[in-house]
Amino acid sequence: MIYLDNAATTKLDDMAGEVMLKYACRDFYNPSAIYGKGSDMSKCVRSAKEVIAKSLGTTFEDNIIFTGSATEANNLAIMGAFRKNFGKMLFSYAEHPAVYNVAEKLKLQGVQVEYIKLQPTGEIDYADLERKLDQTVSFISVMMVSNETGAINDLRRVYELKTKYCPNAIFHSDGVQGYGKLKINVEYFGVDMFTVSGHKAFAPKGIGALYVKNKTILNPIIYGGGQEYGIRSGTENVPSIMAFKTAVENFGNIKDNYTKVQEIANTFKEKLEGCDVKINSYHSPYVLSLSFRGVNGETLVHMMENKGILISRGSACSSKKSGNRVLESMGLSHEEILGSVRVSFSKYTTIEEACLAGKTLCECYIDLKEKLKWEK
Ligand code: PLP
Repeated sequence: MIYLDNAATTKLDDMAGEVMLKYACRDFYNPSAIYGKGSDMSKCVRSAKEVIAKSLGTTFEDNIIFTGSATEANNLAIMGAFRKNFGKMLFSYAEHPAVYNVAEKLKLQGVQVEYIKLQPTGEIDYADLERKLDQTVSFISVMMVSNETGAINDLRRVYELKTKYCPNAIFHSDGVQGYGKLKINVEYFGVDMFTVSGHKAFAPKGIGALYVKNKTILNPIIYGGGQEYGIRSGTENVPSIMAFKTAVENFGNIKDNYTKVQEIANTFKEKLEGCDVKINSYHSPYVLSLSFRGVNGETLVHMMENKGILISRGSACSSKKSGNRVLESMGLSHEEILGSVRVSFSKYTTIEEACLAGKTLCECYIDLKEKLKWEK
């Protein structure tokens, strides 16, 4: 089987799996317990924060809050920072539903929510952002890398614009699809909050983290025993936290991995040369959105599955719906959206896999076109 849906989830790092088991079965103590084994666990959680903080370009481990997912971290960033006196809230139109649906909820409640348009490349339209920025803006959320297209936003540029027009606004970024794949420096980016997810980066599912520069901007969104500085109650998920730490320690060289994946993506694209296909991705080589003319992308996904190759229709969260908000706002036609599929690579994808998958996808497309011609 060839797995090319790494933007949906990644396999668990082998060593992280072993660590997870160790902390589930042997070192299973509650970090809040006052006996030695408890404080050992508390130290472990802290050591994981140090590793994650470092991977985000900061040395402040107390600025890392563990959550049950990136969805929760995004909800915490937005709802935890939200105040009654908030002015305008700006969100990029490409946001994952874990941000977009929170924005929609706030909008329904009467909050002034506006969306930043996208360029045809999928990156935000900085001129549109600049038009929408003024002193009344309280909150900005712009994702680092699109889960649909791999488009990369220039977070530093967003920060500089924010500083010019509304220096006090809170700046959040969903960094899930950039984490472990691109260099991250939250201090250089100028973000107040940054979200990451474990399972997109070889850690287990059900663990995420939020970097927050200044914890006083956050109120909890769930209440309980006061863990995680009182911001995210609930007994710490030590097995997943420690596995997350291990997966991050095993990221390897981000630049070398990027170069390798770039080569893989190029090889894959070369194999599509005989197809009538439009490439909707211009930035990160890890995510490739493709629109095949005259066919249904869903059929292609199933044809590929029958040949032992897993690709996807789009983000796992939108794949069951017929439209695609992100591709639509990049200016793609209904036909291009209907014929779209997403292929996403990882540092473990090989050139041979990319070659075979590209060739097979091209063959599936040609077969499908032929079949549709006879059905007409
Ligand atoms: N943000 C982005 C950009 C994503 O791609 C995803 C998952 O697809 C999420 C957030 C949600 O992550 P999690 O599954 O950890 O809640």
